[in-house]
Amino acid sequence: MELQFCGAAKTVTGSCHYLDTDKHKILIDCGMFQGLDRNKNFGSFPFNPTDIEYVFLTHAHIDHCGRLPVLIKNGFRGKIISTRATRDLVRILLKDSAKIQKEDLRRCLGQKRSNCEREALYTEEEVDDTMQYFVTYPYGDSVKLEDGLEFRMRDAGHILGSAIFELWLVNGSDRLRKVVFSGDLGQPGQRIIKDPDMIREADYVVIESTYGNRLHKSKDETMLEFMTVIKRALEENGNVLIPSFAVERSQEILYELNLFVENKLIEGLNVYFDSPLAQKATEIFTRYAELYDEDARRLIETGDNIFEFEGLEYVADFSDSRRLSARKGIMIIAGSGMCTGGRIVYHLQNNITDPRNHLVFAGYQVHGTLGRKIIDGAKSVRIRGQEYDVGIQTHTLGGLSAHSDKNDLEYWLRGFGHSPRKVFVVHGDEEVIDFFSDHIERNLEIEAYAPELNEIVELD
Ligand SMILES: [Zn+2]
Ligand SMILES: [Zn+2]
Repeated sequence: MELQFCGAAKTVTGSCHYLDTDKHKILIDCGMFQGLDRNKNFGSFPFNPTDIEYVFLTHAHIDHCGRLPVLIKNGFRGKIISTRATRDLVRILLKDSAKIQKEDLRRCLGQKRSNCEREALYTEEEVDDTMQYFVTYPYGDSVKLEDGLEFRMRDAGHILGSAIFELWLVNGSDRLRKVVFSGDLGQPGQRIIKDPDMIREADYVVIESTYGNRLHKSKDETMLEFMTVIKRALEENGNVLIPSFAVERSQEILYELNLFVENKLIEGLNVYFDSPLAQKATEIFTRYAELYDEDARRLIETGDNIFEFEGLEYVADFSDSRRLSARKGIMIIAGSGMCTGGRIVYHLQNNITDPRNHLVFAGYQVHGTLGRKIIDGAKSVRIRGQEYDVGIQTHTLGGLSAHSDKNDLEYWLRGFGHSPRKVFVVHGDEEVIDFFSDHIERNLEIEAYAPELNEIVELD
């Protein structure tokens, strides 16, 4: 049985793992490369898409599902397996991605640049085509798909619908092996959704490591910091901008703000939720209350709408979004989460030079993105062809992260009753992956390995 790491190997994006059991050929995720690795999206897959029988999809983030339409364009005719919530979120995220690609292509052609074929991977129609390959299952069901191929999804606690995959596979020598793919693992205590499920046993584990070298601040400390930023902005009549991922991050921020307002910790704050995509995602969230954690469900039972509070306004039209540029002392939540496009870019142009304003990052920023440049302390940045001094005060709220930190990842790995034979560390920047693999070997005494991109390993 062979496992090939076709993405997220010594990098964060492009998750895609190819498993050839000798009897079956499957993929775990088929994600898009982002930031500096973006050009890799245009290379061909290191396997034949027509051979693939199943794609096990861990969750709806674009770095995990973003190349599914490309897979189908290249001949895949199997089944894509996920939770129902994942499927619903994938539909809106891929459509949005296709729309952005179309706009980028149009801009490229308009500027008569060469290489414009590198701007669009697929169209909205091709996304519609992709959706018909989905087959959904609930968490916790053991499903036998074929002889020698069984799976079960468990809650990964990362975003709504996110799954850890447990796979039971029979290899070429007729031996049963269990391989676990963590997908992205959430931060225990994360708002709205449940904590990651613990898995008790496996022969091999493939684990993410986005924050494998650091510890998040506590939730309480983070909320205090968040509140302080908001209060200071209100006092100084500055704005608070939050570049936000449409799924999970946006809803969790609304959840926190709802608590601030309902408990009268903050008064007089006007919040503009300026992301049509995140609004669609929020609608999907409301359909899956059964996946919420106890706290969120209890709030709903008391009659509180966790995504609504006084002072919150959902902005639909682009013209209304533009009008916000004249306002002061407000909060704007807008996409994209890494400031690579979307309405946040416009708001940054209007707010980035003024030191009374605050920019709050609540999610991971990939190398090569505008968000990453600002976090890394750039004094000036180029936005849509124009240079801007970075005067805005920047904050990173790690405690709002949707990823496990070093201790959480270690805790999750310790949950495996008898140690796995080997752990493969993926989905992290190279220095983080190297650190975390070392850390596992030294502290957990499990063999850990950090594969290179497209490397093939034998699982015997
Ligand atoms: Zn993710
Ligand atoms: Zn990811």
